[in-house]
Amino acid sequence: MSREEAITKDKPEVNVTINGDSIRTPATLSVIQALWHAGYPRVQGVGCLEGVCGSCRVLVKRADTNNISMELGCQTLVEEQMEVMFLIFPSPPQHNYKLEKIANSWEVQTEFHQIFPEAQQCRNCHGCSTVCPKGIDVERGVALAVKGKFREAGDLFIECIMCDLCMTGCPEGISPNHVGLFARRVTAYFHTRPSNLINRLEKIRTGELTVVHETDQA
Ligand code: SF4
Ligand code: SF4
Repeated sequence: MSREEAITKDKPEVNVTINGDSIRTPATLSVIQALWHAGYPRVQGVGCLEGVCGSCRVLVKRADTNNISMELGCQTLVEEQMEVMFLIFPSPPQHNYKLEKIANSWEVQTEFHQIFPEAQQCRNCHGCSTVCPKGIDVERGVALAVKGKFREAGDLFIECIMCDLCMTGCPEGISPNHVGLFARRVTAYFHTRPSNLINRLEKIRTGELTVVHETDQA
């Protein structure tokens, strides 16, 4: 018996609609597994299947509510009368920058506003935070970056899977996830290394400390 047969054998079934197609499927499957189980060879909008890559963005409406939520197809189990629509977006706008071109940490905020001029236009509509399937306070992250608080902003985006939902829903054309990525990058780039590491590297440079490679020992 295959792994999928073991998962689905003798399990209760539910009726769902995915991308307009009515499907009857075991209730133990995720949205993507249900599609595959029904014979749809879907590959677009499917990625890691672990809830990490952010590729399988779906709109979900459940039978007991009129609310529509943004979720990940690989992490959402099918339910009776659930309606699901996969979201495929065009390529996001590019923000080109090179960290090595930023002279020092004093310049970061000025550079940020040149790279992301639209970030200041945030109208605090909560749209980005509402759609985020990882529950990130995206709006606050943008506000922190605009104020130059890049470490705090970057920390907020640690769980970001770059699914682009926040960007797509932003009425001001802001790419909050890329703002978050910038914040994380500059924080790491300009972070002073631990003093004991610097001292150790300096000893290696001056020859006071010798590094023995495995190949040297062979
Ligand atoms: S911050 Fe944006 S890109 Fe990141 S997980 Fe949330 S919605 Fe997706
Ligand atoms: S969706 Fe855009 S405008 Fe609305 S709060 Fe988020 S970043 Fe600001």
